[in-house]
Amino acid sequence: VTFSDLGLSHWTDTTCRELGMRRPTPVQRRCIPRILAGDDVLGIAQTGSGKTAAFALPILQRLAEGPYGVFALVLTPTRELACQIADQFRALGSSMRVRCTLIVGGMNMIGQARALVGRPHIVVATPGRMKVLLSEDPDIPAVFSKTKFLILDEADRVLDVGFEEELRVVFKCLPKNRQTLLFSATMTSELQALLEISANKSYFFEA
Ligand code: AMP
Repeated sequence: VTFSDLGLSHWTDTTCRELGMRRPTPVQRRCIPRILAGDDVLGIAQTGSGKTAAFALPILQRLAEGPYGVFALVLTPTRELACQIADQFRALGSSMRVRCTLIVGGMNMIGQARALVGRPHIVVATPGRMKVLLSEDPDIPAVFSKTKFLILDEADRVLDVGFEEELRVVFKCLPKNRQTLLFSATMTSELQALLEISANKSYFFEA
């Protein structure tokens, strides 16, 4: 199986090969066709399973078809994970010059607000800083009015840290018809509850 066999464009095979990704991992084989089909996904998958590319590749493909506003918002529990995810988006999307902005604590907030208003394609954020920007800067919520994908990476950890309130603020600013993709190392009751409020027609799998 190649990446293009999963429904991705042929350029994906080349880009992935250049990055040392010769074949899709099991998580990628299961997720990519479902994400391209428009389903919401809850994937139980560990770090190292290739889950970042499993959501980044189909999102980049949709983005290439019609770039329009902030296309995807990725929430992840830590600054380090956010940096890694942004790096993968930039590497996988290098041929299409994807603009990816990092919104994490400990960095200049005015610069971050300005970057968001410039409508990057992809925003990778920690929930705390994202909530502050959405609730304190009146120009920011509109930035996400056309967002097509919400990704919650390491969702069990996001909930562990007690980010429910932050998530509520973020969910409120996103369109209802978006796709929601949740990735988690474990299935928890908090995650089940989150799924009920956040996702529509879901595809669940355990890697
Ligand atoms: P992740 O599970 O997203 O944290 O990814 C772990 C690592 O696996 C990343 O450094 C990716 O570059 C790498 N990776 C992702 N997909 C593949 C693949 N299909 N083949 C080889 N390596 C991959």
